[in-house]
Amino acid sequence: MPSTNHYDVIIIGSGAGGGTLAYRLAPSGKRILILERGDFVAREKDNWSTRAVNVLGKYQTKEQWLDSTGKPLHPHTNYNVGGNTKFYGAALFRLRREDFGELQHAGGLSPAWPISYDDLEPYYTEAERLYQVHGERGADPTEPSASAPYPYPAVSHEPRIQQLHDDLARLGHRPFHVPLGIMLDEQQPVTSRCIRCDTCDGHPCLVHAKSDAEVVCVNPALAYPNVLLLTNACVSRLETTASGREVSSVVVERNGVTERYSADIVVSSCGAINSAALLLRSASERHPRGLANGSDVVGRHYMGHVNSVLMALSKCPNPTVFQKTLALNDFYFGSDDWAFPMGHISFVGKLDAVTLSAGAPAIAPGWTLDLMAKHSLDFWLTSEDLPDPDNRVTVDRDGRIRLAYKPNNEEGHKRLMAKLEHLMNRQGACAEHGHACHVGLFSRSLFIGQRIPLAGVAHQNGTIRFGHDPEQSALDPSCKAHEVDNLYVVDGSFFPSSGAVNPALTIAANALRVGDHLLDRLGARVAEVTAVAGSLAGR
Ligand SMILES: Cc1cc2nc3c(=O)[nH]c(=O)nc-3n(C[C@H](O)[C@H](O)[C@H](O)COP(=O)(O)OP(=O)(O)OC[C@H]3O[C@@H](n4cnc5c(N)ncnc54)[C@H](O)[C@@H]3O)c2cc1C
Ligand code: SF4
Repeated sequence: MPSTNHYDVIIIGSGAGGGTLAYRLAPSGKRILILERGDFVAREKDNWSTRAVNVLGKYQTKEQWLDSTGKPLHPHTNYNVGGNTKFYGAALFRLRREDFGELQHAGGLSPAWPISYDDLEPYYTEAERLYQVHGERGADPTEPSASAPYPYPAVSHEPRIQQLHDDLARLGHRPFHVPLGIMLDEQQPVTSRCIRCDTCDGHPCLVHAKSDAEVVCVNPALAYPNVLLLTNACVSRLETTASGREVSSVVVERNGVTERYSADIVVSSCGAINSAALLLRSASERHPRGLANGSDVVGRHYMGHVNSVLMALSKCPNPTVFQKTLALNDFYFGSDDWAFPMGHISFVGKLDAVTLSAGAPAIAPGWTLDLMAKHSLDFWLTSEDLPDPDNRVTVDRDGRIRLAYKPNNEEGHKRLMAKLEHLMNRQGACAEHGHACHVGLFSRSLFIGQRIPLAGVAHQNGTIRFGHDPEQSALDPSCKAHEVDNLYVVDGSFFPSSGAVNPALTIAANALRVGDHLLDRLGARVAEVTAVAGSLAGR
């Protein structure tokens, strides 16, 4: 391809942000180039092998970053078409209405967003439709109001999870069905694309039944002749015009060759850590601290949630196949005995002995890993971490990523764990073991220690925050760089605060919102584009 190749829009990265944006812009007829550093995830039996995925890390990047002390760090992240959504658990939550305002936490203030929940609500509704979310409106007491029901019914609980639901409800709680982007048709199991397997969370879907950004966005976008995807195309740098006001060249390393592309509009959608790194690597005379970084916020305020996996062990087995159906938000904003937010209780996919062998769980006396895996309920706890300017992404002289992170706001998380322990101790008596059925809570992580550590960057966000004030943010409310007229960032980096639910639906909804802004800027009428997309979807 000649180095002068010019497009209307270049999108760098094809995950929740970039993939969704490409889907939105594709029907416009504008020339769109997607540059993705990874390849398509191969469809092969290893997609569903816990050994290949969790022990060998077959699909993770082999790249090494550095921690704040300069020690090598192997990030658990994936570079491929569809980004990290190929591996996500497809739990697709809206942030709560309150998450868009200031929220006092025990550890400090969670700042307000420059847009309100109502600004994003129509796009949440669209994103739920696009990602085929299965859920039950109104069951989660913290859920914000919505303009439409979920497009598909909630995924049912298997008996052990239903039993937990009933126990929690008996104790006066409001457990609810996790909104899930899986293409499961429980009424028509024979023709259902999703087969409800036990290797969903953390694995790619071999039968393409998970609503990931490749399946629901990138592949449909590529059906348009005006959209081109280049894989194994790693963007190393963005160059600007002499004034520094426009990106003039996107520098790409592809198959060992340096290539250059340009576009009227350039969008970085590399994920929160890599988008920050790309802007920092693109420092120039006009942008000495990094592209669009006059404010010095680029790379700062890295957030990744305070997360733990906790195994609740029972004497009775847990034969659940697809475990990630139940969640509890009753402690999201606090409780009678604690006035500050604690967070969200949910599940990971069912753990097995192979996966456990990759980490260092506390082993219950008299139990093996296999027995523990067969008898555990495997909870996923999420609390909000606060935007600390010293938690940051930087790049060293060779362009290598360095990630500094000191956990904060941990008291709420500890209390959330204590709440779960308390609830598990009050489960109903089982017929065989009575109340002694519950053995205890055990922490589990892929590493030693109970919190998900630094390398667990699954929920990365917040490194290039959006806002009205160019002193405090690198992006304006439309996610355009304050200092560069044709540069946008559309991925998890725009979050000024992280909330305590999974981020992907918010990233996708925001991509649709920014997509409408770009269509307008490009002179493509939004209503017409949506109509074309609708008619093609019906083909
Ligand atoms: C195991 C796991 C489970 C998860 N479960 C959930 C869940 O249940 N619910 C939820 O909401 N979220 C979940 N997440 C998080 C979710 O996947 C992310 O929030 C989301 O994918 C982030 O979207 P993004 O667009 O910011 O980045 P990504 O989806 O990471 O996309 C970034 C893309 O940019 C590409 N890229 C990076 N740098 C460059 C470059 N220099 N040049 C070209 N391309 C580049 C990458 O290869 C990648 O394809 C999970 C994540 C993981 C890893
Ligand atoms: S078949 Fe269903 S449960 Fe299994 S990986 Fe695919 S989407 Fe997930």
